[in-house]
Order: sequence, then C-alpha cells, then structure tokens
Amino acid sequence: MNNFLHQIGWRVYRAVHANGLLADAVYSGAYYYFQITRRLAYRRAKRDNITPEELGHYHGLQNGGNLQTGVTNICNAKCTFCAYPKVVANKTLQTGVMTFEIFKRAVDEWVAMGGKSLDLTPVVGDPLVDPGILEKVDYAVNQAGLKNVFLTTNAILINKNDTYKKLIDLGIAAVFISTQGASKEAYEKIYGVKHYDEAMSGIRNLMEYNRSKGEPARIVVRFRNHEKPSAIIRSPDFKIYIQPFLSARVRVNYTVDFDNWGGTITPEDMSGFMKLRKLPPALNLPCMALFGLVVRHDGNVRLCGCRLIRNDMDDLVVGNLRDKSLQEISRSPEAWEIIKGFYSGKRPETCRGCTQYHPINRQWLKGRTENLAAANHEETSINPASY
Ligand code: SF4
Ligand code: SF4
Repeated sequence: MNNFLHQIGWRVYRAVHANGLLADAVYSGAYYYFQITRRLAYRRAKRDNITPEELGHYHGLQNGGNLQTGVTNICNAKCTFCAYPKVVANKTLQTGVMTFEIFKRAVDEWVAMGGKSLDLTPVVGDPLVDPGILEKVDYAVNQAGLKNVFLTTNAILINKNDTYKKLIDLGIAAVFISTQGASKEAYEKIYGVKHYDEAMSGIRNLMEYNRSKGEPARIVVRFRNHEKPSAIIRSPDFKIYIQPFLSARVRVNYTVDFDNWGGTITPEDMSGFMKLRKLPPALNLPCMALFGLVVRHDGNVRLCGCRLIRNDMDDLVVGNLRDKSLQEISRSPEAWEIIKGFYSGKRPETCRGCTQYHPINRQWLKGRTENLAAANHEETSINPASY
C-alpha cells in the first residue's frame, strides 16, 4: 500500500514539475492553500491547548528528531530574502568555524542518546565554507555511525576539491541545495554574488556523480525563485544542468512563500514571483521549533535552528556544550523558562514577529510521547540490570 501511494505521489509530483503552466498554477495556488491550512492548524492548536503541565515532561531533546550542528555561520552569498547580508552589514554577527573537538563532542553525545539524524546546516552560513566539513561528515557517518547525515548548501563551493564526489563517497544521506533558479541575471540579483556558473555546474556534477553510483544520496534543489516556476522549467540551463538527473530520489521544488526572519525581511525585499508569508495572529503556545537544538560553532547551544534577527548569540541561547551535556542543556531551567514564557505571551525577541512560528498541537505531542516511550523501552531492553 505504501509503495502504491509512493508511486502515485511520484507521478503527481513529476506531472506538476515537468509542466511549466501546471507548476505555476500549483505553486500560485499553494500560497492561498497554505494560508488556509495555517489558519486551520492555529485553530487546532488553540482547541488542543496543551498545558505547560502536560508539556513539562516532554520538553528535553529526543533522539527521534535531528540534532543540528551549525559548523560555520559564515556565508559566501548575500541573499535578499535572508537576514545574513543585513547582520553582516550591521556588524552584529560574530562569525566562526566549529572545531572538530566541539563537533565530535556534540556527535558523541547525540549517538550516546540514540540519535540517528544529524543536520550540518547552520542558522545562517554555508556548511561548505567550513574547511573541515568532509572530516566532520566522515566522522559522523563512518565513525559515529549516524544513519541520516545531511546538509543544506548553496552549492557555490561544491566543485572545489571534488567536494561533490567526496560527500557521496563518504555516505551522506541527503544534500539539499538552495539556489535561485536557472537565470544568471536573476541569480546575481537575488543571491547578491557572481557565482552562478560554479553553483550550476556543481549541482550538475553532484547529480551526475550520485547517479553514476546508483543514487545513494537524496538530492533536492530548492529554488528560492524570483522567477515563476515555468520560466525555470523552460530555461536552457535547467534543461542542461538539472532536468536530465531528476528521479524519485533527486527532485526540485519551488518556494511558495518566504518567511520574514523575525521582521528583518520586509515586502520590499521580495521581487518577481516572491511573496512574503502571512500568519494569523500569534497564539500563547510554544513554537515547535523550540524543541530542536542547534549547536553553534563555539559550542553555544540554542533553541531553534531556524531563524535569527541580529545574531545567533541571542535570547534563544541556553547553555554551552563545554559546560554541560546536550541533554542537561535541553532540560535546563533556562530552556524551560523560554518555552513556558510563550504561555504568558513572553517571547524571545527573535520569535516575536516570526513567520516561521508553528504552534504545538496534540498530534505533535503524541509524536514526542511515543518517541520517549520507544527510547525508554530501548534503554530497558539493553540494560542488563533489568534482566
Ligand atoms: S539564504 Fe543561505 S545562502 Fe543565502 S545568504 Fe542566507 S545563509 Fe547564505
Ligand atoms: S517563532 Fe520563529 S524563531 Fe521562534 S522558535 Fe519558532 S521558528 Fe524559531
């Protein structure tokens, strides 16, 4: 049954993404569809009304999710839809690259907890800017044994030193690529740098090499598109560099709406087909993203790996790996105070006007309770003391 549904899903996906007119219609309609589904999701969250007492037991880090290690917060692009160029221009972001020691500590703790998924993507920055990225992928996949290691990159550096080959050979599970489209002019306008040719040839090389090895990695090109999907689908560069390699495991998608980075991005930053997301009025419920942790390059640990306003050393930082374990930090009073604060309308500055906000609901809580039950069961089953 699952396979049947998967096949149907793949056929629908392929029909939409191979036909410019259909893609335009679906992605334009999706903007309004998402507005309705978000309104419904808010209504459901309000009705579910999970109390702090119910939540208290389940707020710590759980091994069923992802750990995020932001290996560097330096980027080589200046996207108009991202806070990065603004925080660099305002000199409010302190940048750096994660040492192997911090990375290893985070990964080892995560593995000891039973974690399986690791995202090497920072809040802002491109992971391939880290000169030690391959060593880190190698450690996480081949020494620590994490099954699902992935990253998101703008692909500007993916050709350098054959990084695209090495990522595949090291066993990375997925590479997500964020790029503008298939027009050099639009790329330079939206990504703010002149690296279109490197990015496009890198994407092609990655896809081609992955295919030659039997598609071990999932690849998704996420267009942060200023142009309509049809303009990209019909462009010569899309047909040469991307289309020949698309498959059930190698896909593209387009951006329905852009979020506002806590108010840093405004409608004036949008152009062409780009639209800013609209949200219903905020609820006094915590955001789901508070329950994921991101380790910053210097070992500081922050709730929410999604967004920042001025810098990533803000009021979402709850501890440092050099002082405490990941689990202690995630269950710390500092973390709980932030989460609990949402119930009384007290939000960290980054969260106040954030259009990435997803209020928690009962289905989400059920996932966490099941995760915790499974983890406790595993612990009991392998603990000799329990026999
Ligand atoms: S969106 Fe990504 S690639 Fe673009 S500036 Fe921000 S961090 Fe860099
Ligand atoms: S409201 Fe925005 S910044 Fe705050 S936790 Fe949610 S996604 Fe992150």
